[in-house]
Amino acid sequence: MRGRLRRWARYRLDDATPRITMALIGPGVLCVFGLAFLWAWTIERKRHYLLLLAAAPCLFALGVMIQVFHWPANTAPNALLSALFYTSAVLLTAEAILRRSGKRFGLRTDAAMLIAVLGGLWYFAYIAPNTLVRVYIQNFGYGVILLLAALRLVHLRRGAWIDRALFWILSAFALHFFPRTVLTIGLSAPPTAGAFGASLFWATLHLSLAVLGAGLALAILAAALSDLIEDLRRERDIDGLTGILNRQGFESRAAAIIAEAGRTPCTLIACDLDHFKQINDRHGHAAGDHVLKAFGRLLRLSARATDLVGRMGGEEFAVLLAGATRDGGFEFAERLRIELSEAEFEFLPASGGVTASLGIAELRPGESMSHLFARADRRLYQAKAAGRNRTVAKDKLSGRGDLRTDQR
Ligand code: GH3
Ligand code: MG
Ligand code: MG
Repeated sequence: MRGRLRRWARYRLDDATPRITMALIGPGVLCVFGLAFLWAWTIERKRHYLLLLAAAPCLFALGVMIQVFHWPANTAPNALLSALFYTSAVLLTAEAILRRSGKRFGLRTDAAMLIAVLGGLWYFAYIAPNTLVRVYIQNFGYGVILLLAALRLVHLRRGAWIDRALFWILSAFALHFFPRTVLTIGLSAPPTAGAFGASLFWATLHLSLAVLGAGLALAILAAALSDLIEDLRRERDIDGLTGILNRQGFESRAAAIIAEAGRTPCTLIACDLDHFKQINDRHGHAAGDHVLKAFGRLLRLSARATDLVGRMGGEEFAVLLAGATRDGGFEFAERLRIELSEAEFEFLPASGGVTASLGIAELRPGESMSHLFARADRRLYQAKAAGRNRTVAKDKLSGRGDLRTDQR
C-alpha cells in the first residue's frame, strides 16, 4: 500500500504533470459553467439551447482527456476521436448561441461542417499524415464555424448591452483561433507527441481556451439569465386576462414617460366600464371576461406603439397618450367610447350595450404622476355621476348630446 502511494506521489511529480494539470484547468472551468447552464435550464425548461450549452463543455473535456491520457494510444485514431468531441462541442456552442436568438445552422449544416473537419483530419492522419495541417484544419475550422455564427448574429450589435457583449466576445473568440495558431505553431509542428505537449502552441491553446472560453461562457450565461429575468419581468407587468399592461407595469412605464415628457404634451385617459357587475350577474362571469378581453384588444388596436395601455384592476383601464394634448385625448376617448357602445360581443345580446365612462387629464408642467392620475379619476367619476357613457375632459361635464362643445 505504502509502496503504491509512493509510486503515485512519484507519478504526480512526473514532467508531464504540469502539462496535464494545465490542460485540465480549462475543461474543468467550462464544466462548472456547464452545470450552471443545466441549472438555468431547470428554471426555464423550454429554453432547450441551455441543454446544448450544458453538454458542450462535457464533450470538450472528453476531447482533452482523450488527448492528454493518450487513449487510444495511436496518434491517428486519438486525433480523430478527440477531434470528434472538440468539433461537436464547438458546433453545439455555435448552435446554442444561434438558437438563443431564434436562428440556427440546422442539422444538415452541422453534419456537413462536422464531416468537413473530420474528413480533412482523416485524410491527413491516414492518407498523407501531417500533424501541422491537422492543427490548421482544426483551429481554422473552429474559427470559421464560430465566425459564421457571429456573422448570423450581427443584429445583436444594436441590441441590449449584454447582447452586444455576447456578439463581440463570440467574434473575438472566433477570430483568436487564426493568429494564435499562426503565431504559436507557424510552419512546422513539433515532431513527437512529447514535444507537441511541451510546445508553446499547446500551452497557449489551453490558456486561451480557458480564459476566452470562460469569458464566452460567462457572457452566454449572463445573456441567458437576462432573458429569464426579462421573461419574469414581462410576466409581472402583463395582465393575464387581456394581455395588456397591469397596474404595476403601466405605472412604472408611465412614470418613465412622464419624467421624460419635458415640454411635449402627454395626456392620461382613465376609463371604467359601466354597470359591469350587471353583465356578470346577467350573462355570467365568462361573458364578463370576454368583454374585458375584447375591450383590451380594442384599446391595443386603437393606441399607437408609443402609447401605454393598461388594465388598472377589475374593469378599470388607462391609456397614456405620449405627445397628445387634452383635445387629442378627448378625440381618442370619444372614438373609443363610440366604438365600444356599437360593438357586439359573444355571449351578449346583439345590441351589445356595453359602455364606458372616461376621464381625461393633460399633464401640467412639474405635475406628479399620482396627481395626474387623481385628476383623470376625478373626471371619470364626474362622467359616472352625470349618467355614464360619456367623456369628461375638464372639471365640467360633457353631455351625451353635445360632447365636443361641452367638454370644456
Ligand atoms: P359602475 O358603472 O359604477 O362602474 O358599476 P360597475 O358595476 O361597473 O362597478 P362595480 O365596481 O360595482 O363592479 C365591478 C365588477 O367588476 C365587480 C367584479 O365582480 C367585476 N370584475 C372585476 N374583475 C373581473 C374579472 O376579471 N372578470 C369578470 N368577469 N368580472 C370582474
Ligand atoms: Mg365599472
Ligand atoms: Mg370600477
